[in-house]
Amino acid sequence: MNILIMGPAGSGKGTMSERIRDHFQIPHISTGDMFRENIKKKTGLGLTAQSYINDGKLVPDSLTVAMVKDRIDKDDCSAGYLLDGFPRSLPQAMELGKIATGDKSVDLVLNLTIPFDELVNRITGRRLCKGCGSIYHTISHPSKIEGVCDNCGGQLYQRSDDTVESLKVRLNEYENNTRPVLEYYSKKGLVVNIDASLPIDEVWQQVKRALGD
Ligand SMILES: [Zn+2]
Repeated sequence: MNILIMGPAGSGKGTMSERIRDHFQIPHISTGDMFRENIKKKTGLGLTAQSYINDGKLVPDSLTVAMVKDRIDKDDCSAGYLLDGFPRSLPQAMELGKIATGDKSVDLVLNLTIPFDELVNRITGRRLCKGCGSIYHTISHPSKIEGVCDNCGGQLYQRSDDTVESLKVRLNEYENNTRPVLEYYSKKGLVVNIDASLPIDEVWQQVKRALGD
């Protein structure tokens, strides 16, 4: 089964992607990782991407699409793939439609939805340890002593962009970019909305059901 997963940062997309990968035994293809790997291995596509990045330019869609095609054609994708972080815009979705055809075409789009207020709770309550990078949450996963890491005794801090204002900007941008993508796949009848505001195990049950398990 060929799956796209979509959802804003804080929706639990990373956790669901890991569970899908392990449970359904299909590779999780994050476009960020795919870029880093191509650049590290100095593939032709990686070198081209690097030259754009060095010039401070955006990597063109055609290059990203070529990398995705290359990746989903690999043997480990014969039983399907889980694509994460792509497509991010309507032109990318249309390009993907041209290269992912036949048994590579997208079967399902999982759309993790979460109300803004819940996203605010999740993100603004997040605390990180300066020492070991452990992640806490003031409500759902507090440290035993406020401001102090349970693991290493390090100081906890809040990321400077984990504020309501910057979250609003990020979410607006995300929604403006992905709305046309979701409309494109909705017309094909491929989108399944998942209520990602529920506890993780309940979200996972919805995902499994959507994937026919
Ligand atoms: Zn720590």
